[in-house]
Amino acid sequence: MTDWRGSGMSVMEVSHRSKAFVAVAEEAEADLRELLAIPAHYKVLFLQGGATGQFAAIPLNLARADSVVDYVNTGAWSKKAIGEAKRHAKVNVAADEAASHYSTVPEQGALRLTPGAAYVHYTPNETIGGVEFPYVPATGDVPLVGDFSSTILSRPLDVSKFGLVYAGAQKNIGPSGLVVVIVREDLIGRARDGVPTVWDYKAMADNGSMLNTPPTFGWYFAGLVFKWLKKQGGLGAIAARNRAKAERLYAAIEASGYYRNPVAANARSWMNVPFTIPDPGLEKTFLAGAREAGLVNLEGHRSVGGFRASIYNAMPIEGVDALIAFMKDFQGRHP
Ligand SMILES: *Cc1c(COP(=O)(O)O)cnc(C)c1O
Repeated sequence: MTDWRGSGMSVMEVSHRSKAFVAVAEEAEADLRELLAIPAHYKVLFLQGGATGQFAAIPLNLARADSVVDYVNTGAWSKKAIGEAKRHAKVNVAADEAASHYSTVPEQGALRLTPGAAYVHYTPNETIGGVEFPYVPATGDVPLVGDFSSTILSRPLDVSKFGLVYAGAQKNIGPSGLVVVIVREDLIGRARDGVPTVWDYKAMADNGSMLNTPPTFGWYFAGLVFKWLKKQGGLGAIAARNRAKAERLYAAIEASGYYRNPVAANARSWMNVPFTIPDPGLEKTFLAGAREAGLVNLEGHRSVGGFRASIYNAMPIEGVDALIAFMKDFQGRHP
């Protein structure tokens, strides 16, 4: 932290233009490319402004003000992406899962896609609702854009099906302050006039994401996480672990006859598992007991209440087992 590679400085203090840091940045990109098998005709950008910044940058780069852009609404993050896109393009909501209270994903056949749309945007994993697409939508020649913030690197991904993949770092990549954008080269260089230069994909791609000072520490740290993932055996190995974690937790919820997960069985997230108890009056008791057992951050998102276990890559299977043991014990004490 304070003496990086014998330099007497933290990586936070070295110049982002120094040879040493540029090597770190390039290595992080190379490792990410290897993990996700990113094809050569995609650029990888390390940007700022979070996934929320991309909610605006995507229409500003890929669409004109009078372009139609298709958005699939599967919950809270889709809604935010749609809200921002409406300020910059003509949004067609290609599917809206309101009828199921956002506990489902639309089937491919239910997507009302616009021929010639500038792109189709969807949220592969709804972090708050715990709803995940079990398939990648087919959009023909229209570029597909996915907000992978809460599911990137949880399993292999066929990047070639996408025009653009983006992910805020803070769930599966590293510290907040960084957003990774993987964008097909033919979609670069179309930014409309007036787009802030730091969010013009071409300006950033031409400058190796270093048009201005990048979030150096986050980038460095992301590189360490990519190395850790490679050491775990890559995305195939982490996927097997993530699948086992999720299956174990959902099975325990189902078998309990007490806890409830509201999401349709085919759309249950591997990363975010919301659940409720029969008596919401006991939620504070549950959380206090959990905290005593060393289990924290189980509050459901403030917009929905209940509980949510976020079991990102960093959560080992022992953590899931500890939660299941606590849940059984709590049920026994508050039947
Ligand atoms: C967390 C999250 C975001 C917001 O990310 P910021 O980096 O805070 O802007 C957007 N989309 C999804 C799916 C998320 O999980």
